[in-house]
Amino acid sequence: MKPEYLLQQNFDLRHLNSFGISAQAHRYVRIESLSQLQALRTQLQADTDLSQLPRLILGGGSNMILSEHLPHIVLHIAIMGRQLKAETSDAFIVRAGAGENWHQFVLWTLAHGYPGLENLSLIPGTVGASPIQNIGAYGLEMQDYFDSLRALDMQTGEVKTFTKQDCAFAYRDSIFKSGEPGRYVILDVCFALPKQWQARLNYGDVAKYLQAHNVATPTPIDVSNAIIAIRQSKLPDPALIGNAGSFFKNPIVTADLRDQLLRQYPACVSYPQANGDYKLAAGWLIEQCGWKGYSAATVGVYEKQALVLINLGGANGAAVKQLAQAIQADVLAKMGVSLEVEPVFV
Ligand SMILES: Cc1cc2nc3c(=O)[nH]c(=O)nc-3n(C[C@H](O)[C@H](O)[C@H](O)COP(=O)(O)OP(=O)(O)OC[C@H]3O[C@@H](n4cnc5c(N)ncnc54)[C@H](O)[C@@H]3O)c2cc1C
Repeated sequence: MKPEYLLQQNFDLRHLNSFGISAQAHRYVRIESLSQLQALRTQLQADTDLSQLPRLILGGGSNMILSEHLPHIVLHIAIMGRQLKAETSDAFIVRAGAGENWHQFVLWTLAHGYPGLENLSLIPGTVGASPIQNIGAYGLEMQDYFDSLRALDMQTGEVKTFTKQDCAFAYRDSIFKSGEPGRYVILDVCFALPKQWQARLNYGDVAKYLQAHNVATPTPIDVSNAIIAIRQSKLPDPALIGNAGSFFKNPIVTADLRDQLLRQYPACVSYPQANGDYKLAAGWLIEQCGWKGYSAATVGVYEKQALVLINLGGANGAAVKQLAQAIQADVLAKMGVSLEVEPVFV
């Protein structure tokens, strides 16, 4: 029987990753439904050549740095659909297919009167990738309104439902990222969006922005518009300048190290954690080390935000890795802080 999907060879992923890296995938397949994914899984099991290839699950490619030649079979997840699945006394339960564009999904929820996700406006990528690193911005994490997700277990073929507890969400982390990456293909995600909504404005410049625009009682759409405007003023648009957003996680350090840094750098920004540790701003540390606006041949550090590495034209994965490692070594030597990379190197 003819498979319902098209398995392609030597496929260029340049337009499927936000860093704009030209990467040749040995095999590529676009998956638009659960039945296609199940048929592919059966084919992979039956074909010894295919089953031995490393597997890469691809959403929007906005959190990945790709090598030039990928020996992988790339499963590009493009399962669409979004709807109100149910209503409880206090929440709207909405569901979206893994391949839906995250930002378009957020706008759709707001247009339909389902508030809650507005602080995560304009984050690139897909709905299916949002639980992988528990995306977050402006004082909100995806887990705050997560309800459940369905995923295909590529090992057993079982379609499994994951509750919030099953996902083990943490700061930019989940079971899918640090447990068994690649085992589960997320099919769709449900969110429980609150009927009693309260704006979250105590992070970054959101309150200041709304005040400056004379918005005294903001609606969820006002908050979304503010966040879109703030993000556009700070972050490069991947359609114009290739990038993967924040390149390093904000490091968590002990109170001793934070005190030591404060003595050396009184302006050092830090946020207390429940266990007595402190979260530092990685971008600030990198900027203090003099990297902001740095340019190498094909890669550089964004002039408006030191946390963002950019493609200056023709960048490859090796050049990005080299720059990231040079920054990590410098920050460790000067500040005593280890920076952890956020995107996945493939
Ligand atoms: C300009 C810019 C700004 C950004 N701002 C933020 C921000 O504010 N906050 C934040 O948290 N992130 C941010 N990011 C990072 C990125 O947008 C998120 O990590 C996003 O969720 C990645 O989605 P994606 O579909 O592009 O995933 P991809 O890059 O395609 O994949 C990321 C990981 O998820 C896995 N994956 C993807 N889809 C599935 C699936 N259906 N099932 C199983 N695994 C899957 C991949 O295998 C990979 O390991 C930013 C990136 C850019 C370029």
